[in-house]
Amino acid sequence: MISNSIALFERAQKSIPGGVNSPVRAFRSVGGTPIFIKNAKGAYLFDEDGNKYLDYINSWGPMILGHAYDPIIDAIKERAGFSTSFGAPTLLEIEMAELIKSMAPNIDLVRMVSSGTEACMSALRLARGYTGRNKFIKFEGCYHGHADAFLVKAGSGVATQNIQTIPGVTAGVSNDTLTAPYNDLEAVKHLVSEHKNTIAAIIIEPIAGNMGCILPEPGFIEGIRQICDAEGILLIFDEVMTGFRLAAGGAQQKLNINADLVTYGKVIGAGLPVGAFGGKKEIMQHIAPLGNVYQAGTLSGNPIAMIAGFTLLNILKQNPDIYVQLEEKTKYLQVGMEKVLHKHSVPFSINRFGSMISLHFSNKSVKNFSDAAACDIALFNKFFHAMLHAGIYLPPSGYETWFISNALTYGNLDYTINAIDAFFEKENK
Ligand SMILES: *Cc1c(COP(=O)(O)O)cnc(C)c1O
Repeated sequence: MISNSIALFERAQKSIPGGVNSPVRAFRSVGGTPIFIKNAKGAYLFDEDGNKYLDYINSWGPMILGHAYDPIIDAIKERAGFSTSFGAPTLLEIEMAELIKSMAPNIDLVRMVSSGTEACMSALRLARGYTGRNKFIKFEGCYHGHADAFLVKAGSGVATQNIQTIPGVTAGVSNDTLTAPYNDLEAVKHLVSEHKNTIAAIIIEPIAGNMGCILPEPGFIEGIRQICDAEGILLIFDEVMTGFRLAAGGAQQKLNINADLVTYGKVIGAGLPVGAFGGKKEIMQHIAPLGNVYQAGTLSGNPIAMIAGFTLLNILKQNPDIYVQLEEKTKYLQVGMEKVLHKHSVPFSINRFGSMISLHFSNKSVKNFSDAAACDIALFNKFFHAMLHAGIYLPPSGYETWFISNALTYGNLDYTINAIDAFFEKENK
């Protein structure tokens, strides 16, 4: 029964565009009514009708230790009593920057912002200011937030809405955005030689998570790194999804590749609005007030947001075992799902890196956006609703990555695998 969610969705649509404050939440892709969440604890979400769900979104990543994790909630409560914002520097911001530097490679200076979008648009501006060049390359199906320059072939959100060109983004802006298919190094080489000395940056999700989870093929990112070095192009790793999720040092550490600039979001704020961008001093010193590339924010480094992120990152730093546990759990889910899907002869492709995983209904492996787009979306939608009915909350789009939290138990994973088994048992009859 979801009658309260149905009533709330009706009411929401009278005052909020589409009833939601971010499009994917509207369930447009999978159909049906979005579930209104009341609260959450650990691995579980509870909706306004009192239903309980195992959470495989985890706020799209930040709730890596599960919901309402006590040390984080306690820290937020304590800080709130100190006032919620000053618009002046604080000790906590230094501690946060030092903690980030101690975990992530290649960061001399880091600037806090309030979202992943802001982090990416600021990093791009900096790359342009630093190199004096205007164009940049992004990959089809990668999402770098909703700043104008990035809204070209921008992955799950826009793909789910089936929007091709975005009204409001001028051709002047889009003309500086060059795109290549993910995992296609030749396409990158071609773009670079065609636009010699005009490309400021190549931005990439080092493990892509916005067209399902897609892994870089061996040599792909290494090849990009070489091109960047040879051509004076900055390599920007968008680690908004992967940062502090795959490892303390994110994808840079896991792939052993250095980026020139790195952007963060999601996990870095533990569920509060936080983003960050950082890199080598030589580049970062061009940001105001050190340099002339302007970037600012009234609520940047907000103390409540900082204490939440600081507390979470500190726990992750002190307990590297968490990453091992997350990986083991996600692998267990992968192996369990593979077994069940084989048993029912379902064409599928599962991609996983660490605790990011996605299930595509396709009989070929999924290596770029076209592959992801060719999957059986109708089957995914039916599957999604069956899972929701079984109390399993998956991302409401076949283009999204599932995020595992360490609050999920092996019992929860078995429950999920059994529910998948039961769905295909019925489906194949
Ligand atoms: C979520 C995401 C963003 C945007 O972050 P917001 O906080 O939603 O603005 C940017 N890049 C990647 C890779 C993301 O997954």
